[in-house]
Amino acid sequence: MTSSSNDFADRVLTWFDRHGRKDLPWQLAVTPYRVWVSEIMLQQTQVATVIPYFERFMASFPTLADLAEAALDDVLHHWTGLGYYARARNLHKAAQLAVDRHGGELPADLDALSALPGIGRSTAGAILSLGMGQRAAILDGNVKRVLARHEALAGDPAQADVLRRFWQVAEDCTPQARAPNYNQAMMDLGAMICTRTRPACALCPLADSCRGRAEGNPALYPQKKRKAAVPERSTRMLLQLNEHGQVWMQQRPPAGLWGGLWTFPELALDAEAPHGQDWPAFVHVFSHFRLHIHPLLVRGHDQAGAVNEAPGQWVTLAPLPALGVPAPVQQLLQRLQALVENE
Ligand code: SF4
Repeated sequence: MTSSSNDFADRVLTWFDRHGRKDLPWQLAVTPYRVWVSEIMLQQTQVATVIPYFERFMASFPTLADLAEAALDDVLHHWTGLGYYARARNLHKAAQLAVDRHGGELPADLDALSALPGIGRSTAGAILSLGMGQRAAILDGNVKRVLARHEALAGDPAQADVLRRFWQVAEDCTPQARAPNYNQAMMDLGAMICTRTRPACALCPLADSCRGRAEGNPALYPQKKRKAAVPERSTRMLLQLNEHGQVWMQQRPPAGLWGGLWTFPELALDAEAPHGQDWPAFVHVFSHFRLHIHPLLVRGHDQAGAVNEAPGQWVTLAPLPALGVPAPVQQLLQRLQALVENE
């Protein structure tokens, strides 16, 4: 690879100049902070989904200092529906650490960046390169896929020794000049051309030298993790309405599933539940399990606290509260709001 890497990068950059994305919100008015927030939001999430979240986030927290000073609840509220809420908690914590340790700026150094919560080596590389113009390699899911196919890299990159090889290739391929454009181009190639299931090799600037393509089935790379069966779990969510049209909500502990978010009290399905009206159950899919949610509408004002000891509060439904809530809870709040408004 090393001998041909300039040629490799040249082809990637030529493609970028003609086809790459150049007007995403975080590519305009570039700052390390904006790049960082976009990179965190883009983990596990598609560009089209991220754009409105990014714009709302920047409107409320335009600078790192604004984010550091914000209440965590407010930050989580801006994340409602985006999932993987640890990302938002880490973003907030890292902003505070950047104020404490680095004078309110993101450090221009791979090790110092990687020491901040939620910033792995690839995100640090993206901040250094896309946000600060440095030559730094990145290896997100898209880049990993392009490199694995082009080089026919065997092995599961979830394993440390395989990942080391991937990083070596990524470092070797990153050009001295125009590294930020090159990195953006590799992410774009992975997202637009070398897609997960059906790579469009006929449109790819790397087709002539792609070993995965020459072998006949590039989609075999990178090797997939063997998937374990996804466990199923169930829970009953208590929607307790009082006579003022308010619902009882509780805040989760700061760490763990939906950490720091506001949810309804929950009960095991086989536990004795207060008398109420069952709403249709629905499924919420997490990365590591499927949760069957059985909502139960309970009327009256003396139910709060009856099912668990956790503190909570009555929350208005019109307007909906500015709290961080997970997506399925948001859906239920909207249904409750419609119910209360029609009564
Ligand atoms: S030629 Fe095909 S498999 Fe190879 S990098 Fe391009 S799109 Fe991916």
